[in-house]
Amino acid sequence: MKRVYTFGNGKAEGRSDMKNLLGGKGANLAEMNLIGVPVPPGFTITTEVCTEYNKLGKDAVVALLKDEVESAIEHVEKLMGTKFGDAQNPLLVSVRSGARVSMPGMMDTVLNLGMTDEAVEGIAKKSGNPRFAWDSYRRFVQMYGDVVLGMKPKTKEDIDPFEEVMEEVKEQKGVKLDTELSVDDLKLLVKRFKAAVKERTGKDFPDDPWEQLWGAICAVFDSWMNERAIYYRRMNQIPEEWGTAVNVQAMVFGNMGETSATGVAFTRDAATGEDIFNGEYLINAQGEDVVAGIRTPQQITLEGSRRWATLQGIEESVRASKYPSLEEAMPKCAKDLIETQQKLEDYFKDMQDLEFTIQDGKLWLLQTRNGKRTGAAMVKIAMDMLKDGIIDEKTVLKRMEPQKLDELLHPVFDKAVLKNAKVMAKGLPASPGAATGQIIFFADDAEVWAEKRKKVILVRIETSPEDLRGMNVAQGILTARGGMTSHAAVVARGMGKCCVSGAGEIKVDYKARTLEMSGKVYKEGDWISLNGSTGEVYDGQVNTVDAEMSGDFASIMDLSEKYSKMYVRTNADTPRDAMVARKFGAKGIGLCRTEHMFFEGDRIKAMREMILSKDEEGRREALKKLLPMQRQDFEELFMVMDGLGVTIRLLDPPLHEFVPHQLATQKELAEEMGMTIEEVKLACDALEEFNPMLGHRGCRLGCTYPEITEMQARAIIEAALNAKARGAKVTPEIMVPLVGVVEELKMQAEIIHNVAKQVFAERNDSIEYKVGTMIEVPRAAVTADQIATVADFFSFGTNDLTQMTFGYSRDDAGKFLKIYQEKGILKNDPFAILDQQGVGQLVRMGTEKGRSTKPELKVGICGEHGGEPSSVKFCASLGMDYVSCSPYRVPIARVAAAQAAIE
Ligand code: PEP
Ligand code: MG
Repeated sequence: MKRVYTFGNGKAEGRSDMKNLLGGKGANLAEMNLIGVPVPPGFTITTEVCTEYNKLGKDAVVALLKDEVESAIEHVEKLMGTKFGDAQNPLLVSVRSGARVSMPGMMDTVLNLGMTDEAVEGIAKKSGNPRFAWDSYRRFVQMYGDVVLGMKPKTKEDIDPFEEVMEEVKEQKGVKLDTELSVDDLKLLVKRFKAAVKERTGKDFPDDPWEQLWGAICAVFDSWMNERAIYYRRMNQIPEEWGTAVNVQAMVFGNMGETSATGVAFTRDAATGEDIFNGEYLINAQGEDVVAGIRTPQQITLEGSRRWATLQGIEESVRASKYPSLEEAMPKCAKDLIETQQKLEDYFKDMQDLEFTIQDGKLWLLQTRNGKRTGAAMVKIAMDMLKDGIIDEKTVLKRMEPQKLDELLHPVFDKAVLKNAKVMAKGLPASPGAATGQIIFFADDAEVWAEKRKKVILVRIETSPEDLRGMNVAQGILTARGGMTSHAAVVARGMGKCCVSGAGEIKVDYKARTLEMSGKVYKEGDWISLNGSTGEVYDGQVNTVDAEMSGDFASIMDLSEKYSKMYVRTNADTPRDAMVARKFGAKGIGLCRTEHMFFEGDRIKAMREMILSKDEEGRREALKKLLPMQRQDFEELFMVMDGLGVTIRLLDPPLHEFVPHQLATQKELAEEMGMTIEEVKLACDALEEFNPMLGHRGCRLGCTYPEITEMQARAIIEAALNAKARGAKVTPEIMVPLVGVVEELKMQAEIIHNVAKQVFAERNDSIEYKVGTMIEVPRAAVTADQIATVADFFSFGTNDLTQMTFGYSRDDAGKFLKIYQEKGILKNDPFAILDQQGVGQLVRMGTEKGRSTKPELKVGICGEHGGEPSSVKFCASLGMDYVSCSPYRVPIARVAAAQAAIE
C-alpha cells in the first residue's frame, strides 16, 4: 500500500482525478506540477492513512509512514538544495490538511516547520534578512502551539496566551502593527512564546524538526475529528470515512521583505459570477494574514483596487500610495499571476480559487480548487461557460448544487422602502442577499437566540472557524475587518448567507456588547439590516419583497426541462401558492391539503359545528355550509392551474385539531351551537386521543363519516364543472389519504363515483376525473398490488410512511433525532432526507407491486422528500412519473430531476 505521493519540478506521482485518495488540495498540487505551473515541491499523505490513524492510533501510523515520509523529505531536499534540520541551510516546510472536498478554514495549518534555535540563525545568515528569519520563527511557535499543542482558546472567555504576549510586547515598544517590530522584539517574542508553551503544557517547545513534523502530521489527522470539522461535515453531508490527506510542502516565503507577498484570488467573481479576475494580497506577509483579516488586504488588479477604494470611501491618491494594487506594486508578478489564473481556469474549466506566494519577486502557486460561490454565481458562471463553449449543457446541469438555487428565490429588500432607509455604514459586498435581524456579538449566543426563533445578525470584528455555528443560524453577518477573501466572506458565500465584511468605520466592543455606527450606539438585541449586494448597513428593520427570476436562472430551468424524464408538481393549498409554483415551472398540483382551507374565517365555525354534531343529520347540516366555500376554493385552484393536473386530497387530520382548547373560544362555540359549555368541553375532550397520528384520521374519517367524503367529492366535481364552463381545462384527481386496506379505498371510491354520477346528472354535463390514493401506511406499500386494482394513481406520502416505518412520531422525533445524528446512529434526519435503505424499499415495493397490477399506473411522491435532491434522484431511479414539493422547492426538484436523468 502506497501511503505517500510526491510532487515537484514538473513531475508528480498523483493527478487531479485522484481527489478521493489525495484530497482536493493534494490532487491539484500534483496536477499543477504536471501542467507547468510553479508549485513548491512536496508530498501528500493519503486520506486512507487518516482512516488508519483513527483506527490504529498515532504510534502505529507513524511507524507505518516512517520510511516513505523520510524518503519524500529527501526528495524535497534534493529539489530545494536544502536539508531538513540542517543548521546552515535548513529546509522548512508547511503542513496542511486537504479533504476530498474543500472545507475552508475547518482544519489546521502549520507553516515554517523545521525552525529551531539553530535553523533560525542559518536562515538569517543565508537570507541576509534576520528580521524575516525571526518573524518566521515567532509565527511557527505560535501556530505550532495553537494547532499541535492545543493552546488555541476554546471559548470566548479563554485568553490566547500568544495574543496576550504579542499585545504586551507591542505596547511596550509603542507599535501598532506586527511589521513594526524589530529583530530584537521578535527574538523576545519567540522567547516569551516558548515560555508560555512551557507554562501551559509543562513541556519544552520541541527543538527537533522530526518531532515537529510528526506532531504536525498527527495534528492534521486529529483535526478531522475536531468539533468544527464534524459540524461542517454534518452541515454539508460529508461522510466521516472520507478522512483528510496531509500535504507537506517546501516553504516559500511571502514575508521575506518588500519584494515578497502572499494572496488569495478568484478567477471570477464568487459573489456575482461576473468574469472578473479578483483577489487580495499583502506585501511582506504569510498565508493566514490575508484571510485572518488582521491587516487590510490590497486588491490585485488596478480596476478592483479602484472599485474597492470607492466602496470604502478612500480617495484615489490615498489608495495609490497606501493600498496600491499588485499590478502597480509588482507589475511583473501581477502579469505572471494573471496568465497563470487564466491557464488554470482554462485547464480545470471552472472558476478557481487560488492561493499564491511571491518570494523575492518570484510567483508560486500553493493551491487551486473550484471556488466556493453563491447560488447566483453558480448559475451565471455555468451559463457563461456554456455560451463560450467551454462546457456543454449536461455539465452545466451537473454543476448545479440544487439546494443553492434557493438563494435566488429568497426575498430582496423592497426598493421603495430602501430609498428611505438610513445607511449607517458601508462595508464590502461579501455575499449577496438581504438580511434583517437583531444584533448579537457571539456565535454561541446567536445559537441560543436562534433556537428561540429570533432573527439575528452576527456582528464580529472578524470571524474565525469557531464562529461557524453562529454564522449558520444568523440571518446575516457583519464584520469590521477582513476583505472579500476573509473567513467570514468565504464561509458566508459557501452558505449562501448575506454578509457585509470589512466595514472599517464600525466600532465593535465585545466587552460592552455594543456596536457603534455613524455615531449611534447599538446594543445587543437592537435591529439592523444588511445588504450583501451593496455592502450597506441600515438602521432598524427594512422590508423585503419576493425576488425576480433572472435570465440565466430561467435558462437553467429550460435545460432542466430538456433533460429530465420526470416532472415536478407542487404541494399547494391556496391559489397564491399555486401561482408562485406555476411561475417556477410546476406542472400541476400534486397535493392540496384541503384541511388548511377550513381554518379561515367562518369556515372553522362550520367545521366545528360538523365535528361536534351528535348525529349524521347535524353533520350534514354543517357540511352544507362548508360545501360552497370548498367549491369556491377548488374552482380558483383549477383556474390557476388551467391545463394542468390538480390532485386534491380528502380530509386527513385528526378532528381534535379543529376544536377549540381555550375556555373563551369554547364558550363562544357553546353559544353558537346552543350547547352548554360543559357539553362542548366534554365533546372536545372526547376527541382527545393517545396517539392522534395513529388514530381517527385519514380515510378512517371518510369511512366512518361517509357524508364528509360526499361533500368533498361534490365540491371538487362541481368546481371542476364550473371551471370547465369558464373555459379552463381541468382533470381533477381525488386522493384518498392513509389507506392501509384495499377495502378502505374501495369504499371511498364508490362514494366518489356515486357523487360524480349524481352531479353529472344534475348538471347535464360531465368531466374526466381520477381517484387515487396516498401510499403512506406500510401495509399499503406491501399490498400495493391489491390497492392498484382500485387506484388510478399512487402518491407516496413519505412523511407518514417514514413515521410509521421507523415508528418515530413526526411530532416528537425532534427530541432524539439530533442526538441520534450526533451519536452516528442515523446519518440524516429521515424526515428531511428519504431513508433509501428502509422507507425507500417500501416505496420501491409499492411502485413495483402497483405497476405489476396496472402497468400504466401513475406514481408520484408528495411527502417533504419530494423537494430534497437526493430523494428526488431516488424517486427518478424508481421510474416515478413526478415528484411534488412546496413552491419554493420546485426549481430545486426540477434541477435534481434533470441531474438524475443525466447521471
Ligand atoms: C405525507 O404523509 O407524506 C403527506 C404528504 O401527508 P401529510 O404530511 O399531510 O400527512
Ligand atoms: Mg400523510
